[in-house]
Amino acid sequence: VQKSGILEMIPLKEGMDDIGGLESLKQWLQRKEKIFRNMEAAAAFGVDMPKGVLIAGMPGCGKSLNAKAAAKLFGVPLLRLDMGRLMGKYVGESEANMRKAIGLAEAIAPCVLWIDELEKAFAGVGGSGGAADVTTRLFGTFLTWLQEKDSQAFVVATANNIANMPPELLRKGRFDEIFYVALPNKEERKKIFSIHIGKRRPDDLEGIDLDRLAARTDGYSGADIEGVVKDSIEAAFAKGEDAITTDGILEAVSQTHSLKEIMKDSLQ
Ligand code: ATP
Repeated sequence: VQKSGILEMIPLKEGMDDIGGLESLKQWLQRKEKIFRNMEAAAAFGVDMPKGVLIAGMPGCGKSLNAKAAAKLFGVPLLRLDMGRLMGKYVGESEANMRKAIGLAEAIAPCVLWIDELEKAFAGVGGSGGAADVTTRLFGTFLTWLQEKDSQAFVVATANNIANMPPELLRKGRFDEIFYVALPNKEERKKIFSIHIGKRRPDDLEGIDLDRLAARTDGYSGADIEGVVKDSIEAAFAKGEDAITTDGILEAVSQTHSLKEIMKDSLQ
């Protein structure tokens, strides 16, 4: 699988407990877990095999994290299909490669097939010119498969921007559900801080004022928060301190910019 270059087997590490916030998405996945863990009973009861989910939204807010955690939750392997590479590297061959990748995923199923950067592949659908033709054909192959499939390959597609995606993809009957992932709110930021501090410095967690940290990080993504935690640990180590503190983390915060600020700057 790894050799094909476009389909990669990803080792399972992160689980649902590693995700702060995104409760409705997590609950939705947890209901699917029941099906994956009791497939015969579910089929006998008349439950349809889930097709998959599209997770769209801000960068660094847990889309990839959910794809990984879904596979771990279901107890199945995770295969990542890199749409950027499928399109970039194999123009002309891309349709055949897509069929090959889908075939492989179905052979390995039950599995989670994670399609990353979905918008890259389908942005030009319906346009004219050679590249647009390839995209349109590729899109047709994918859409037909998605609509007709009754395999145990559960698709988790992730995308930053669904604004330019063909509407056919977003219609009911393709994905079972579409979730939009936004920047975390204050309560969610508290949880994300505690997850990332707990992973690296569990003993320090008790002394940390999560409320203050969350209050100072409006507009920060999950990835920003993880970055701040890592920076503060590195700084404490460099200074020869024996623990991280709220003030130390706030200092790291003051040296960074939130995703919201950066995006605002890039719009000017
Ligand atoms: P991109 O569009 O840039 O790929 P993404 O939404 O897929 O972004 P992730 O890869 O899931 O982002 O997030 C990057 C890292 O940030 C994660 O591995 C995790 O450590 C941290 N992170 C992001 N969101 C959360 C969250 N909700 N809870 C805990 N950690 C998070």
